[in-house]
Amino acid sequence: MTRFLVTGGAGFIGAALSNRLVSLGHFVRVLDDLSAGVPERLHPDIVFHRGDVRDVPKLWTLLQDIDCVFHLAAKVSVQESINFPSDYNGVNVGGTVALMEAMRVAGQVRRVILVSSGAVYGEQGTQPIAETAIPQPLSPYAVSKLASEYYVRTLGMLNQVETVILRIFNAYGPGQVIPPSNAPVLPLFLHQAVRDGSLVLHGDGSQSRDFIYIDDVVEATVQASLVEGLDRSTINVGSGQETTIHDLVAHIARVTGKEVDKVVLMDESGGVSRLVSSTELAQLKLGVSPRFDLKLGLEQMLILDPQFNEVKQKSH
Ligand code: NAD
Repeated sequence: MTRFLVTGGAGFIGAALSNRLVSLGHFVRVLDDLSAGVPERLHPDIVFHRGDVRDVPKLWTLLQDIDCVFHLAAKVSVQESINFPSDYNGVNVGGTVALMEAMRVAGQVRRVILVSSGAVYGEQGTQPIAETAIPQPLSPYAVSKLASEYYVRTLGMLNQVETVILRIFNAYGPGQVIPPSNAPVLPLFLHQAVRDGSLVLHGDGSQSRDFIYIDDVVEATVQASLVEGLDRSTINVGSGQETTIHDLVAHIARVTGKEVDKVVLMDESGGVSRLVSSTELAQLKLGVSPRFDLKLGLEQMLILDPQFNEVKQKSH
């Protein structure tokens, strides 16, 4: 049994990861300030602590007897980060530095896994993107994740803590909260489609993304804590499948059986033109390959997530 601390563990990815770790028989402690997290998602065996990841004395206590840390606590909206860069720097970078500082004092942590983002790559000429590509962050959010990567790597090296950085692409799955503004595109479109609403596309819809189902994210993340010889690795976690926003709409129409109505806002930026992950290093180092294609992942969401109940009721 390994003893884990998961920061941001009440969030979408953090809760799925924490629940999986507990189901594997590990001890899991979660730290989350509940700014976006939902503690009810957590299995009762998980020990939950409400608090801020920048609170170093609290971290000293929570890190006692911990073997391995997953660091996910962060503010996560690209759009919001453009309006509030100092908040994003404070929480995302400040939180990472505080955690690494507290880990040095606690002393016994063997490994830290930083959940970073494919957003650090920005606009890249070569797709799919390999980990050797030079990051071109295009938002304060992306800068904050890249800065966190440097802090984790450098402080880990100085303090003899093994470090693994995972660059997750567009994760989706049941339990993803749809905030009133700056919602992730996939659950937002699915939600709109099941309620017969219009889907609002930013840009011309030709921009592509790499959507990876939550179970595949969790599997790769768990492996990052188990596999030996990963110190100072940076590994992409994506599906390797390129999906344009138009493709996404077509998939959603197919799985929901709805005629979807598209509204295209041409004068708004849809973000980078292409963002597709290479999956070779994850396969080589973590021994994982994505198991869910987009169709299967969307079908799982309709089955497992009560937010999308309307379609289930109508189709039965
Ligand atoms: P989320 O918002 O559901 O999870 C983040 C969690 O961190 C929330 O529960 C929130 O309450 C908590 N948090 C925020 N500020 C905190 C603070 N100061 N102290 C303690 N807890 C705090 O988002 P998510 O999608 O689950 O993202 C989790 C991590 O994965 C983030 O680091 C994010 O950058 C990264 N990531 C997510 C995706 C994705 O597609 N969802 C892609 C790449 C990277």
